[in-house]
Amino acid sequence: MEISAKTPVYCVIGHPVGHSLSPLMQNRAFAAAGCDGIYAAFDTADPKGAAAGIRALGIRGASVTIPHKVGIMDFLDEIDESAREIGAVNTIVNSGGKLRGCNTDGQGAVRALGENISVSGKKVLILGAGGAARAIVHALKANGADPYIANRTHEKARLLAQDLGAQAVSMDEISGGSFDIMVNTTPVGMHPYTDAMPVPESALAPGMYVMDIIYNPLCTKLLTKAEAAGCHVIDGAGMFVYQGALQFSLWTGRDAPVAQMRQVVYEHLQY
Ligand code: NAP
Repeated sequence: MEISAKTPVYCVIGHPVGHSLSPLMQNRAFAAAGCDGIYAAFDTADPKGAAAGIRALGIRGASVTIPHKVGIMDFLDEIDESAREIGAVNTIVNSGGKLRGCNTDGQGAVRALGENISVSGKKVLILGAGGAARAIVHALKANGADPYIANRTHEKARLLAQDLGAQAVSMDEISGGSFDIMVNTTPVGMHPYTDAMPVPESALAPGMYVMDIIYNPLCTKLLTKAEAAGCHVIDGAGMFVYQGALQFSLWTGRDAPVAQMRQVVYEHLQY
């Protein structure tokens, strides 16, 4: 692909972003889809300046990552309904200088689950009550699932459940067989603390679908134990790929080349 004076530019803004796999994944997507576009990473602590820069330079779209998912909202022209309800933006679409904020995190997780099981009507246990949990619970509700939230700080689970029309459960109430699907949204088990698990093994039951949104490592202790207990396991690359695929479609109006995006992510996460 040749980069010309007309090549649309996309980016990720965050702080830090040096570790982000989004540039590799999105540039592979543009190439695989035969779509003119390049995607760069900008490490910035200044969301207001970043929004002004996107407008001034005609950057067509951006991914927004930690710590700007909430702060960027003040500097956009429009926030779509689901991002407003989630209270965070992970995607900016620039239409002729008008910046619209969207959130693809939760739908990305539901698509990753959807490759394995339809979430509609299913009892889904969400571990954690932070930003990722909020986006995922919102998307689960929108897709007809019945979400339950368990968190180390129970009060946060209660408030999140109340806000999104879900239910809160105490960590002590979790037992294998009560839920169809479990999703870990806590960082427990992430590198370098890979020997930790967010729930005891007794919370796992054969036939359950267990997704960990951690992708560093891809195979967390939770997924290893879940597989040994006869559960179906889904790693964190799926959510990452699908949130990016949804961004690609928002920016280009085209279906994303999901297989190629997944391949480049796996190439860089296999260790
Ligand atoms: P966050 O807003 O900081 O929330 C973290 C949640 O985990 C909180 O509910 C917190 O509980 C809980 N937690 C933290 N440390 C814990 C511990 N030691 N034991 C038990 N619970 C603990 O973080 P986030 O933005 O939701 O992100 C969470 C994770 O998701 C990160 O690992 C991130 O890398 C991953 N993620 C993956 C994707 C993907 O595409 N795969 C996308 C987004 C995020 P308290 O309320 O008690 O503090």
